[in-house]
Amino acid sequence: MHLREDLPASTRLLAVSKGHPSSSIRALAQLGQRAFGESRLQEALPKQADLADLDIDWHFIGRLQSNKVRSVVKAFSVIHSVDSLALAERVSRISAEEEVSPSVLLQVKLRPDPSKGGFDANHLQSVWPQISTLPAVRIVGLMTMAPLDCLAIDRQALFRECRDLADRLALPDCSMGMSGDWREATAAGSTWLRVGSALFGARPVSAPAMG
Ligand SMILES: *Cc1c(COP(=O)(O)O)cnc(C)c1O
Repeated sequence: MHLREDLPASTRLLAVSKGHPSSSIRALAQLGQRAFGESRLQEALPKQADLADLDIDWHFIGRLQSNKVRSVVKAFSVIHSVDSLALAERVSRISAEEEVSPSVLLQVKLRPDPSKGGFDANHLQSVWPQISTLPAVRIVGLMTMAPLDCLAIDRQALFRECRDLADRLALPDCSMGMSGDWREATAAGSTWLRVGSALFGARPVSAPAMG
């Protein structure tokens, strides 16, 4: 994968390090990579402690349980996986208490997929007035994932829909594209590719994709 040469300037690489040890993160950080994504708090915290000497931007990309919000806003500067109004309100309230202001991407589900969470596009537009005025979070974009069985041609259409929805809401960022579909996502205007196995190799320890 020759991401650096191929990517447009607006498309950044989030290195998804779930399932990989601190030593692998350190090796990639030493090559200049700064943004790393983790999907489980209990796995991420010890790695963050190991790597505290490095200047890393930690992104949370996993399913966010409401009882983990306080720990997540303290440990991560960007959250890609806020998937309901109630959760967004909770992230804002707790961020205010903790005096942090995380950047938040709202996860959208543009195709039926029982294994994933996410806002339906119409619902997101109807609650947008409430979400966009939450005081302690910066809503910077949308995140989406294609269903596993989605064909490449429909992936690109799906990613374009995500980009269009973000544009309608005047949101700069779209977090879309993984190891298997980063080309389609880049063509559709992704600003964050979340790439794990294509960078680090297959995950050595079990780390389920977010639900
Ligand atoms: C694991 C994961 C990725 C990276 O997946 P790869 O196929 O290894 O690139 C991206 N996004 C989310 C939400 C993930 O859980």
